[in-house]
Amino acid sequence: MKKFMYPGSFDPLTYGHLDIIKRASKLCDVLVVAVVTNSGKVPLLTVEERRRLIKEAVDDAGLENIEIVNFSGFLADYVRNHSISCIVRGLRDIPDFTSEIPRAYMNKHLYEDFETLFLLTNIEHSFLSSSAIKEVIYFNGSIKGLVPENVRRYIEDHHIGRVLDEDN
Ligand code: ADP
Repeated sequence: MKKFMYPGSFDPLTYGHLDIIKRASKLCDVLVVAVVTNSGKVPLLTVEERRRLIKEAVDDAGLENIEIVNFSGFLADYVRNHSISCIVRGLRDIPDFTSEIPRAYMNKHLYEDFETLFLLTNIEHSFLSSSAIKEVIYFNGSIKGLVPENVRRYIEDHHIGRVLDEDN
């Protein structure tokens, strides 16, 4: 069974992430979406919220071969111990490339069967990042069309991450 893994903080899940999940899931039997729990960034959503929103979004998209797990620790060991054939990463721009390449080499050095698969972002998602979404939310801007509808509804209904009220 061919198992791929897509790790990320998904805080929150964007249409860019969802597009990578859809495309990667066609290339393997099972795609493990791994929510990184120790990214070091101040989180917008709890890990449980992120997992639930990912699950709803992949169900809404009709994807059936997705597993969602928490991940913290050493990627090379996880990949080896869970028979993962490759890690999927999305590339948006040169900075993504610059930060991803040394990691991929290091992982290969640590575990020679470690493979990294890079998928180029769909051009219409190339400007999407979770940090940009957080900034839009902070200033009470609209995130419609940037994140899956279930994610937008949850964030808006619970006023998550919003600092300025509507009069500002
Ligand atoms: P972000 O970079 O948005 O904070 P993550 O840390 O969760 O997101 O990223 C997980 C993976 O998803 C990384 O490989 C990242 O390059 C990729 N990714 C993030 N946003 C996009 C996008 N808009 N299009 C394609 N890949 C993306």
